[in-house]
Amino acid sequence: MIRVTIFNEFVQERLGRHNFDFLGEWSEENRIKMTERADEIAKAHEGGAIHDTLKKIVEETGDVCVKHIRSVDMPECGLTEEVLEDTDVLLWWSHIAQEQVPYEVALRVRDHVQRGMGVIFLHSAHMCRPMQLLLGTSCTLRWREGDKERLWCANPTHPIAKGVPECVYLEEEEMYGEFFDIPKPDELIFIGGFEGGEVFRSGCVWNRGYGKVFYFQPGHETYRSYFNPDIRRIIQNGVHYVANTEQRLKTLECLPV
Ligand code: ZN
Repeated sequence: MIRVTIFNEFVQERLGRHNFDFLGEWSEENRIKMTERADEIAKAHEGGAIHDTLKKIVEETGDVCVKHIRSVDMPECGLTEEVLEDTDVLLWWSHIAQEQVPYEVALRVRDHVQRGMGVIFLHSAHMCRPMQLLLGTSCTLRWREGDKERLWCANPTHPIAKGVPECVYLEEEEMYGEFFDIPKPDELIFIGGFEGGEVFRSGCVWNRGYGKVFYFQPGHETYRSYFNPDIRRIIQNGVHYVANTEQRLKTLECLPV
């Protein structure tokens, strides 16, 4: 069994109804707008939150179990040493509260990846602290909501592309465009093309120490991309690809010989 931990920031789903100190005071007008947005997300995710959708996706293959679901408002974001030690693959979705993840937690995630834990950063998580630390770049990009995407497979023999058609069409997705400030991927698997003409390195893998990092772009919170069977398969393949259940280091240290 591959042990998965899902970190969903879990802020936008509760906006307007739940008080998040870091967002400060809201006007009534803003509160209503945020509540409407939260309702849109709930509708896209069939009444659940983003982590509910992700849990169903990864457990669909039968050999994966979600051991922990964590959010940004838990102490240490719920990502303690014990939880990460109990994780083969960490799935990460975040957006508006990326700066609320303490550097201490981000460094802990980075160290676990270098020791062999797999990690998948989804959609707007491109600017979360662990991803920036692992890649060493800003991970900035261009964006525009309300586009259509053609996700082209650029590496059809890659395990993450197994069973995925050469092009996946998404009727509604947020445009993410170049320049995407990332280091050259070790493996580029998908390239997104958008109605506005922009292109994007949508599916990339990097090796970091004994661990693997997979970044995958589709998955805007109010759209239905995670219910597309090909997108689901890519995430499932991704979990299997980055899972390293054999070669996990106990510590990161130089060995005297
Ligand atoms: Zn988005």
